[in-house]
Amino acid sequence: MCNRNVTEKCDIMIIGAGPAGSTFARLIDSAKYKVVLVDGQTDKNSKPCGGLLAPDAQKILAEFDLSLPKDVLVDPQIFSVKTIDAHTGKIRYYPRFYMNMDRFSFDKWLLSLVPREVDVVNGKCTQINACGECFNVIVNTNMGKVNYVCKAVVGADGANSMVRRTFFPSYKTKSYVAIQQWFATDEMNPFYSCIFDPKTSPSCSWSIVKDSYFIFGGAFEACKCRENFEKQKKRMESFGFTFSEPIKTEACMVLRPTLKSGFCLGGGGVYLIGEAAGFISPSSFEGISSAIKSGTVLSEAINKSGLRAHKGYEHKTLHMRLRLLLKCIKHYFMYTPFFRKIIMNTGIQSIELKKQIHK
Ligand SMILES: Cc1cc2nc3c(=O)[nH]c(=O)nc-3n(C[C@H](O)[C@H](O)[C@H](O)COP(=O)(O)OP(=O)(O)OC[C@H]3O[C@@H](n4cnc5c(N)ncnc54)[C@H](O)[C@@H]3O)c2cc1C
Repeated sequence: MCNRNVTEKCDIMIIGAGPAGSTFARLIDSAKYKVVLVDGQTDKNSKPCGGLLAPDAQKILAEFDLSLPKDVLVDPQIFSVKTIDAHTGKIRYYPRFYMNMDRFSFDKWLLSLVPREVDVVNGKCTQINACGECFNVIVNTNMGKVNYVCKAVVGADGANSMVRRTFFPSYKTKSYVAIQQWFATDEMNPFYSCIFDPKTSPSCSWSIVKDSYFIFGGAFEACKCRENFEKQKKRMESFGFTFSEPIKTEACMVLRPTLKSGFCLGGGGVYLIGEAAGFISPSSFEGISSAIKSGTVLSEAINKSGLRAHKGYEHKTLHMRLRLLLKCIKHYFMYTPFFRKIIMNTGIQSIELKKQIHK
C-alpha cells in the first residue's frame, strides 16, 4: 500500500453512491463538469434495507427506460403484506406490488450506470470545510488521504449525513434506530409482514424472506433499542414467528420527516438529496423512489442553471415534498392505536385470504 497525501480539483463532489448519489452522477452533465463520486460501501458494511422496490420507484426507472437485471431480484416476489397489530391482535392482508431485491446488488447496478467520465472513488469522506467560494473535502482511501477542492458538494450520504450535520446542524427531525437480523430459512412463510407493536416501538417492524434468508427488523427509539427489539421478537412468537440463531445483525439510523421539521435541501453550493435531505416516507420508510427522484431533479436543475441552482432544486422538489408531507398525516392515523384499530376493523383496502384445501 502506498501512502499518499494529495490535492485534486473538481467541480462537483458527490458524497454517497446510494440510489440518490448514483442517479445524480448518472444524469449530471459530466462533459461540462468534472465530477467525483465517493463511497465506502462494501458487501461487508452494506446498507441495512428491506430491499423492496415500490411502484413509485419502478415508475421512475421506467421513465428512464431502465429494466432491472434478473440477478438483482431475490425469491419470492410479493403480492401482499400481512399486517399485524400486536396491540389488538388483529391481522389483515393488503395487496402490495413491490419487487423483492438484494439491496447491495441494486446499488451496484445503479452505480454501474454512471458514465465513465465520472471519477468513482472508493473511500470515506471524513471532513468538509467551506473555503471562500470552494470546499475542501477530505477523503480517506486505501491509497491514503486525498484533499478534493471543489465548487459544489452534493450530500447523498443517507440518514446520518455528515454533509448535513456539518453545514446545517440546526436541521433536526425525528429519527429511529433500525435493527435487522438475518436468519437461515428454507421456508417461504411467513414472508412479508408489517408489524405494529406499541409496547416495544412507536414505529413499525417487518419480516421478509430473501432467497434462503428470513429477515426480521424494526425501527425503535434509540433508548433501549436493542432491549426492545429482543422483547418484540419474544412477543412475536405468539404470532407464529420462530427465531433461530441470527446469522447477522445490522443497524442504522432512519429518519422520519415531520410536518414541523420539513426537509433540508441545502444552500450556498451544498446540496442534499435522498435521505440526507429527509426524503423518505414517514409512514412506510420507503425511500428509494425519493432518492432517485431527488437525484434526478437536482441534476436537471444544475444542468440548466449551473452550480448555484438552489432555487431550481427547491422548485423541482415541491411536488415531492408535498407528497411526503401528506404522508405525515397518513402516519398520524396509521400509528395512533385508536385510529389504526378503526381502519383495520373496517377492512378497507384489505383482501380476504381464500381457503385452500391442499396447501
Ligand atoms: C432498515 C431499513 C429498511 C428500509 N427498507 C426500504 C425498502 O424496502 N424500500 C425502500 O424504498 N426504502 C427502504 N428504506 C429506506 C431506504 O433505504 C433509503 O431511504 C434509501 O436508501 C436512501 O437512499 P440514499 O441514496 O439517499 O442514501 P443511502 O442509500 O443511505 O446511501 C448513502 C450512501 O452514502 C455512503 N456514505 C455515507 N457516509 C459517507 C461518507 N462519510 N463517505 C463516503 N460515503 C458515505 C454510504 O456508504 C451509502 O452508500 C429502508 C431503510 C431502512 C433503514
